[in-house]
Amino acid sequence: MKTASILALVGLVVIAAAAGWVRQQNQGQDSKWVPAEQDSRSPKRKDKVRLTEEEWKKKLTAEQYRILRRQGTEPAFCGAFYDNHKKGTYSCVGCGLPLFHSGAKFDSGTGWPSFFQPVSKDNVWTRPDNGFGMVRVEVLCARCDGHLGHVFEDGPKPSGLRFCINSEVLTFKEDK
Ligand SMILES: [Zn+2]
Repeated sequence: MKTASILALVGLVVIAAAAGWVRQQNQGQDSKWVPAEQDSRSPKRKDKVRLTEEEWKKKLTAEQYRILRRQGTEPAFCGAFYDNHKKGTYSCVGCGLPLFHSGAKFDSGTGWPSFFQPVSKDNVWTRPDNGFGMVRVEVLCARCDGHLGHVFEDGPKPSGLRFCINSEVLTFKEDK
């Protein structure tokens, strides 16, 4: 009996660990999750950028691919742009679409580049993200459907929004 109880306990621990592992593998994905380019909310644009996963892997660095194509997140305070105070435009590393201007950037203290608005609401789109047991809103590029980060409702006025974006998926061109 005693051995059986111990075995049952070990079994439960293994199942719990496995469940946690599965959740980690499905980062950013809820039960109804579909790839962004298959999501009906993805904006219809004439200039849409569509590559195969193999083509994306060739075009991007491994870290860019992990974030842009696999809903990854870079570590806080490590990216190239969270502390960038130069004037210019931030564009998508996947397709070159301008996404944010330095005029909308602010120091959020989070360690990720933070903006209160995109250059145009047509250049990004959003969808719910219930991964990691959190209710968040994912921000994606309107042209290539790449994952950029998340948007939160604790930003500065007037928008009240905080677009929390990964440096890795941005390129920066300084204003001349
Ligand atoms: Zn893009």
